[in-house]
Amino acid sequence: MALSELCEQMEGKILQGSPDLRFRRFNIDSRTTQPGELFFAIQAERDGHEFVPDALRQGACGAVISHGMRDLGLEAALVQVPDTLLALQKLARSVVSALRPRVVGITGSVGKTTTKEFTAQLLTGSYGILKSEGNFNNHLGLPLSLLQLEAHHDVAVLEYGMSAPGEIAALTGIVPPDIALITNVRPVHLEFFSDLRGIARAKQELLEGATPGGVAVLNHDDPLVAEMAGAWGGETVFFGLSEACTVRALNIRSRGWDGISFDLALGGETRAASLPFFNRGQLYNFLGAAATAWVLGIPLAHITETAAQFKAFDKRGESYRLDRDIRLIDDSYNSNPSALEEALQALAELPGGRKIAVLGDMLELGKAEADFHRQAGNQVSSLELDMLILVGPLGQHTAEAAEAAGMDPEQILVFADSSAAAEALPALLASEDVILVKGSRGIRMEVIVQKLIRERG
Ligand code: ADP
Repeated sequence: MALSELCEQMEGKILQGSPDLRFRRFNIDSRTTQPGELFFAIQAERDGHEFVPDALRQGACGAVISHGMRDLGLEAALVQVPDTLLALQKLARSVVSALRPRVVGITGSVGKTTTKEFTAQLLTGSYGILKSEGNFNNHLGLPLSLLQLEAHHDVAVLEYGMSAPGEIAALTGIVPPDIALITNVRPVHLEFFSDLRGIARAKQELLEGATPGGVAVLNHDDPLVAEMAGAWGGETVFFGLSEACTVRALNIRSRGWDGISFDLALGGETRAASLPFFNRGQLYNFLGAAATAWVLGIPLAHITETAAQFKAFDKRGESYRLDRDIRLIDDSYNSNPSALEEALQALAELPGGRKIAVLGDMLELGKAEADFHRQAGNQVSSLELDMLILVGPLGQHTAEAAEAAGMDPEQILVFADSSAAAEALPALLASEDVILVKGSRGIRMEVIVQKLIRERG
């Protein structure tokens, strides 16, 4: 679109610049601005207007602003709008209505990014796919993703994130999903909700905002997600392990470090399948993606062949073989009680020598945070893991519970932060150890992973 059309869609006014000017991309961050972009000055922790000069120096050829800016001294297009965030969202909406891709919207407490990536991989080759980058899943990330839409994109696979009620409804207001996938409802962001039901209600906003005549793709094994089918009333495709599911995994078998194999049943057909992951959560993420691919007409054989080639995504269960046959599972991207429970279970079941859990605090759990950490300590002890290394102040609860449940206190270490743990860990390792590193984003457990790979990789 030329500047004049963009301006019309955003209901803005051109203050300077040629109405015929066209932009390569759209951005809100002057640190990543590239030549040819249109920069939106968004009010966040800091006012984006402060960064307009930087963005223009970096080569942006225009900026969308909401209040006057003096002394820019540069020849760039300037568009004034009443509200830059709303302008960005309006523009995204108009791009969607012009190009009309099928929209797959994914939400859930955990697994959104992984499910999105799996879905995009299953659809690639059959459709032109736009997927939101990384976890671009909020009021800014979603419109920015949509502004990358081009005519050859038949399907947009998008994450709808939230940390409070009403946020998903706002996102469906920008773009309603045609296929609405809900992965699960778990105690994540509990700080902002009174209970799990509150979280479920907020996730349900995805269905409430879906296109009439759309399809709900729901995790049948998560009772709070399965329940949502009742209120939805439209077409529903369930995925999970039980017979009630249209898309289902059965006869699940472990293949040690090679992952799992199972039979994938899908709309009446069954085929042998495998995934190179050992964590049950990844199986569910795959089933959600497979259900979506099936709704979009992808054949079962293509789904199983693609699944066998999947890789873990950045810090979400990637595994490394270090020297002396030490195995490292990098799950440092994030943590929460249910993801940790699954990751610990998977660790216990893997082949190899000593099992070592290196766990950073789980954040944003509200009043129950101490209990959740104690539960993890109990589990580590009952799984008879060999060593427990904790990072952060809440680790004390995990340590106490593990010790009270019978774990040898000499095998439990607590560190104040991830740098301190990273310094100490290499010296504690022995041949064939299997190490799981997991913690909330804010604890920066990747520091430990990087150090281990540097020293022992
Ligand atoms: P999100 O985008 O919802 O934050 P990700 O796909 O980025 O989720 O995964 C983040 C972390 O959540 C992973 O490292 C893993 O520990 C956990 N996880 C992902 N999917 C699942 C699942 N289906 N069940 C349990 N835990 C999961």
